[in-house]
Amino acid sequence: MSELISRAAELDAADELAGLRAQFVLDDVVYLDGNSLGALPRSVPARVEDVVRRQWGSLRIRSWDESGWWTAPERIGDRIAPLVGAAAGQIVVGDSTSVNVFKAVVAAVRMAKGDGEGGGGAGSGAGRDEILVDATTFPTDGYIAASAARMTGCELRPVAPQDVPSALGPRTAAVLLNHVDYRTGRLHDLPSLTDAVHRAGAYAVWDLCHSAGALPVGLDEHGVDLAVGCTYKYLNGGPGSPAYLYVRRDLQPRFDSPLPGWNSHADPFGMSPDYAPAAGAPRGRVGTPDILSMLALEAALEVWDGVPIERVRAKSLALTDFFLECVAAYVPAGRVESLTPSAHAERGSQVALRCEKAGDVMNRLIASGVVGDFRHPDVLRFGFTPLYVGFGDVERAARVLALTLG
Ligand SMILES: *Cc1c(COP(=O)(O)O)cnc(C)c1O
Repeated sequence: MSELISRAAELDAADELAGLRAQFVLDDVVYLDGNSLGALPRSVPARVEDVVRRQWGSLRIRSWDESGWWTAPERIGDRIAPLVGAAAGQIVVGDSTSVNVFKAVVAAVRMAKGDGEGGGGAGSGAGRDEILVDATTFPTDGYIAASAARMTGCELRPVAPQDVPSALGPRTAAVLLNHVDYRTGRLHDLPSLTDAVHRAGAYAVWDLCHSAGALPVGLDEHGVDLAVGCTYKYLNGGPGSPAYLYVRRDLQPRFDSPLPGWNSHADPFGMSPDYAPAAGAPRGRVGTPDILSMLALEAALEVWDGVPIERVRAKSLALTDFFLECVAAYVPAGRVESLTPSAHAERGSQVALRCEKAGDVMNRLIASGVVGDFRHPDVLRFGFTPLYVGFGDVERAARVLALTLG
């Protein structure tokens, strides 16, 4: 035990990101639930106070211009862009992930059906009537994909992500995948799956909820078509903070939103009865943005200034490696089983341990100052946010887990 404790101290001393923890409001609890709700960045309360008291309280309606409220969805999208490997002008912030999944999947199917118009036969746009969805997806993505399929006259086929290449065909219109599986922490191969989808003539929609802010995504580099993600997990935007939608630049003119609102109109204040979509990322907007949450998110994103995502990824892997090592050393054999792949190329930033009576075990862990979460039916989930979790936290979490399991 003492060897792991001293190694944790050495790793913390050598950690170039260790200083970032001071930018968050934390106590001596080991917080391993940042993959569900990121911790509060210190800059946020004063910003929210200013937005409420000065921007809203004093400037009132003037703030739509003078405080940059109207353009916040694109401005904050551009702030998220480098974290997911996107050039500016392709991301808009707003609505929930669920709503953005809907926009993206329907728009992807519309693009696919529009392709090859007049060509006829299998593989033409009109013949594309299938949506593939990650069979192990977070439920909301599956529910929404099912509704999108009904609306667009498609059939929904749930498939394990690794089986997507063999399931693709001339009928495939769109594929909705998760970059990291929310339950097991498995990282899927975004470059090769996106490539396979493209070779089949279909469109790839990626859900980045469990990867953005934890590892490099490379949206532009890998030619992803559409992507969505939330901002309250590894991006620490706060409970219910708005999500984002990425539409690759060359696809923007063909992005036909199923939720065209006045905010996505080319001339929103023209108040025309006829809809004409805006150019660029704003085409993904719907209605009036949720300014309080959005500007809290903008303040939260400041902690990323000058933090390379590659360095965050290196620390994330070191944290999860060290956690697995400490668990193996401390926890009696057979009590837990890791569902998270051991290969780095297949691991996100969490460790999921299958365990008997996992719900009770997690309650006892939380009572002992180690906060992770429980996922039905038998999974203990531990998320490692490299910006504020240290190696000492990791060692302590494994030690308390071993004590809890007795
Ligand atoms: C967290 C998460 C969501 C959350 O969607 P909301 O609309 O914000 O509730 C959706 N999909 C995945 C994969 C998630 O991990």
